[in-house]
Parts: sequence; structure tokens; C-alpha cells
Amino acid sequence: MSASKSESTDRTSPQASHNSSSSSKSSSEAGPSRLTPPSDRMDDDMGADASAAPMVAFSIKYQRTFLSARLAEDETVADLKAILFSMTDVPPESQKLLGMVKGKQPSDETHLGTIPYAPAALRSRPAATKAENITTDTAADADKACKITVQFTLLGTPEASRFKDQIIHNVSATDQDAVQDLDYVDLTKKEETKVKPHDDPKNLAKLEKTIQRFSDFPIINPPRPGKKLLVLDLDYCIADTKRLLDPNSPASLAARPGLHEMLKAVYPYYDICVWSQTSWRWLEIKLVELNMLGNTDYNISFVIDRTPMFKIHSAVGTHEVKALEFIWRRWPEVYGRHNTIHIDDLSRNFAMNPRNGLKIKAYKDSPNFDTEFVALRRYLLQLAHPSVTDFTKYEHMRSAWKHFQGPEV
Ligand SMILES: [Mg+2]
Repeated sequence: MSASKSESTDRTSPQASHNSSSSSKSSSEAGPSRLTPPSDRMDDDMGADASAAPMVAFSIKYQRTFLSARLAEDETVADLKAILFSMTDVPPESQKLLGMVKGKQPSDETHLGTIPYAPAALRSRPAATKAENITTDTAADADKACKITVQFTLLGTPEASRFKDQIIHNVSATDQDAVQDLDYVDLTKKEETKVKPHDDPKNLAKLEKTIQRFSDFPIINPPRPGKKLLVLDLDYCIADTKRLLDPNSPASLAARPGLHEMLKAVYPYYDICVWSQTSWRWLEIKLVELNMLGNTDYNISFVIDRTPMFKIHSAVGTHEVKALEFIWRRWPEVYGRHNTIHIDDLSRNFAMNPRNGLKIKAYKDSPNFDTEFVALRRYLLQLAHPSVTDFTKYEHMRSAWKHFQGPEV
């Protein structure tokens, strides 16, 4: 698939991108970075806040490879771990950053600029050579913008291996997720006086930063102007993850009944995106196993992993969200709140876009009588009708969508 993961992650500041006139990469930063914001979309006003901080370069030894990443000093250990997760599939909670500090590991909230790095971890910046001075290379420019380079070793087991050994453990963790789910439709109705998560300036600032850093995610098939957008969650939405991970069960049996039929039926009207709170590598494996990549009946436009999900604090707790603006900002002419629907078994993921979310029953233990996708196919075809001009005017939550009576396309 075209969207392969590079071994190098570049969180180049917008300034560095602006200064670069070439898209070539140095050999030490092999491969294109999907995380570098393209310079033509940079907005100076938007960038002022998030990119003012100096950058820290990281050189990470992982297994037999070296990875590199650059983050701003005002970003946190959690931001670094999210990047490492995307690159290595080692979940943040099981990452050990060996040799970065002496003694206790820094907490996730620690800003990268305030960490007491171990002297042995610090590498001074090499003096610029003549060749470097004239280079137009993005990565080299960005390197020069970094005050320090920190070297450490990443320890941890990739999620895929962990899953195979500990299916039960992981599944119970996901069950806990479901228990802790939050109903943002209810919340926004009840708490009229409080700031809603999607209006909270702090959350909006995080969103801007996320858009700036990660909006250059890879595209598998370009958006088709005039189409609506269907955003699908993966785990326990389109597949029974526990079964998908069971080596003794064919992956095709893990797909939710009606998955391919639904996607084939709606594809003439919708571009399809899969957005999953998992790592890039793991996401790709799952989609291939489910026969969703390379399917002859429909195309996936793009997939998004956990990297651009960010934490919000609301009246009911702290959790990560899938903010659709992240997609809309990249293609404002094609997608927006008026024509996007996001299907997920966790409604807390809708917190930044409560009117675009449709919470579907979690698909667990592969019940073969599950008919959610049959109903959803019908609803999506109704929403695709020309008489529907704004998705946010419809009630997607609860079971209201199942009872909607409108003409189908
Ligand atoms: Mg899910």
C-alpha cells in the first residue's frame, strides 16, 4: 500500500518547512515523512502559538534500527510516546525510554524542554559545514533548528505481539473503555452553562497544534469532489477485534456482518476513511486481513491512526478524541460538518464533533445476528439523498437513526 510508514518521523516546525524549497530528504532521514506539515498549508497566525518553542531532536535506538523525531520543547513526554507508538507499534503505556534520564522516568505530562536529560544522552549539534549551509533539505534545516539532540533506547513489546499473547488481557482493557464511554450528546444538553468540549479554547488550541503537525497524513485514493465522507472506527465497530486477533480463526469471520455489502452500496456517494486508536502498522495489518485494502468493490480514501488523537479534559474526565476538523481543514472544499458522518462504538470520540457522530453497538463475541450494518447502510443511503444538505441537522445518536424515514438515493 502506498501509505507505508517511514522509519523517521519529522515534526518539523512550520518555519523550517517555509524555508525549504525542496522536498528531498537527506539519506540519514530516509523516506518521506507523513508527519511533516506541507508548507503550502501553513498559516502564520495559526502557527504562532504552537511552533514558537525551540525544537528538541531525538535519536532513538529501537531493536536494530535508529529512529529520529523532532518535537517542540513545550510538547510533552506523552506527545513523544504517541509518535514512538506510531513508528514502532509499542503502546505508550509499555514504552521504556532507557538512558534518557538518570533515575525515574519522566511523567507523561512533563514538557520535553524541562526534562533533566542524562549527560550521556545529550549529543551536541555538529557545526554546520559549507555543504549544510547551502542545502535546501527539509530535514537538515529542521535539525539545525534543534538546540539539542537526545539519544536513548526504546524498550517495549509491539502491540501486535502483545495481542497474540494476551488477547484476554487486552480485550478486558477495551471492555473497560466501553464502560468509561461518555455520552456527549447528553452532556452538551445538560450542561448549558459550562463550556462544551468542542468550544473549549484549550481543546481548540490542541486541535490547531494537531492539524499543524500531522495534517500531511498519506492518502490512498484522492478525495472525490462531490462525495460525502464516511469515517469508520475499526475495533469493535467494523470487526470483532478479539476474533480478528485469534490465530485459530479466519480474519474474514471477524468482520461485522454486512461490512463489505454496506461499503459497496455507499461507495458511489461517500469517500471512506478508517480512523482507529491504534498504531499505523497494526492498523494496516488489520485492514489487509479484513480485505478492506485492495477490495474491488470500493476504495478506502485514507486511514488515520492514533497519532492525531489528542487528550481533552472535560467535566466528565480525560480521554482522547477524534476531531474531524483534522480532516476538514485539509479538504475544506470537499468535506465539512455538513457532509461527514463518523461511526464509532465509543461516543466519547465524538466530543469535538457531537453532531457528526453515530454511536453503533459494539460488535463483540461475533454475534451472527448482528444487523447494525444493514440498518446503517439504509441510513447512509438516506443521508446521501440530495434533499439532505446538512448532516448535523439529523439525530444520529441513540437509535433515532434506525427509525429515520427519508428517501434513499
Ligand atoms: Mg472502537
